[in-house]
Amino acid sequence: MLKKRVAGCGTDKIKLAALFKKSPYWTKLRPQLIALAGRKCWYCEGEVSNSRLAVDHFRPKGGVVEEPANIGYYWLAYEVGNFRLICEFCNSSTDDDPSGKRVTKIHHFPLLNPNARIRVPGARPEVIEKELPILLDPLNSSDCDLLDFDSAGTVRRNDHRPRSALERAAEICRVTESIRIYGLDRPGLTERRTKVWSDTVLKANLLELGIDIGDGVDPVDRVRDLITPKATHSGAALSALRGSRHLRSVVSHFSKELRLDPGFEGITQPEAHTALDLINAGSLKSGVELIGVTDIGEVVAVLLADGRLELGPRSYATPTSAARAATGSADTDGWDFWHIGVANSLVPLSQIRREFNESRTQSSSGQ
Ligand SMILES: [Zn+2]
Repeated sequence: MLKKRVAGCGTDKIKLAALFKKSPYWTKLRPQLIALAGRKCWYCEGEVSNSRLAVDHFRPKGGVVEEPANIGYYWLAYEVGNFRLICEFCNSSTDDDPSGKRVTKIHHFPLLNPNARIRVPGARPEVIEKELPILLDPLNSSDCDLLDFDSAGTVRRNDHRPRSALERAAEICRVTESIRIYGLDRPGLTERRTKVWSDTVLKANLLELGIDIGDGVDPVDRVRDLITPKATHSGAALSALRGSRHLRSVVSHFSKELRLDPGFEGITQPEAHTALDLINAGSLKSGVELIGVTDIGEVVAVLLADGRLELGPRSYATPTSAARAATGSADTDGWDFWHIGVANSLVPLSQIRREFNESRTQSSSGQ
């Protein structure tokens, strides 16, 4: 039926746009989107009742404020990848506001490269991707990571990652405009983010200290429930956890969700103390041969995946216990005794551990 009606419009863009705009079949997908993503607005992350959530088109289907002559991305009206759930507030038009000053998401779609804007239907995804939207896309985790929140619920640009001057300028523009157009600094939101922040810090500390409050909930799940994308204001919860990175249990449980990387300011890999630490850090490989030199020749042990050393028929918990077994001397330090063969030389484990710990210190200070 729709196909017939589209065909009837011929090449008349205005008729086509009107047809696509006025057939709200996309609302049929709303329950599935809510089931998938929870009852939250994807832009402001606020909790919303089902009836107050609407399907928004990230690329507006009915016009583009930044380009008045543009009648919108009407051909993406039924493109699922263009759908976002939006709350009543973010979706309401400026006409609803007596002052007429409030800016909202509707029909805003500024680009960093306006000359690349797609103005005709049928553009392939790889062509559409050449548009550089200024508004942060809630479906893009890299975009979400550009926002940071503090304990007062204030939203700001995440300035922790190293950036070139050009990247920084683009990010400042994107974050500033997104906060303005999405209204992310409105009072109700900051208050709710503050609560989520406090809740997250409290639960992260309970997890770190291993305190069971007797409610039968796993302390790890208690924190995870706050940062899952379905949770309201999960962005604030993630910021709170990133601010709690001194809590080693928390970091080790949620490093994936926190999207930590060595370039993230202040996020350091834990200092290596054991052979297993070095395996986990990637500085040593399990299965590698460790060579020790004694008065009567070389001794070879194998580093096991759990950090133990296999020497002959036995395995030892630490390099030193294995070294003392090999030499028969209680004075032997295994970190100096065992070596890795690198090129034609032997490098002691103590040097590998020292270099790893020095490199993580340098990366954490941004050098
Ligand atoms: Zn909203």
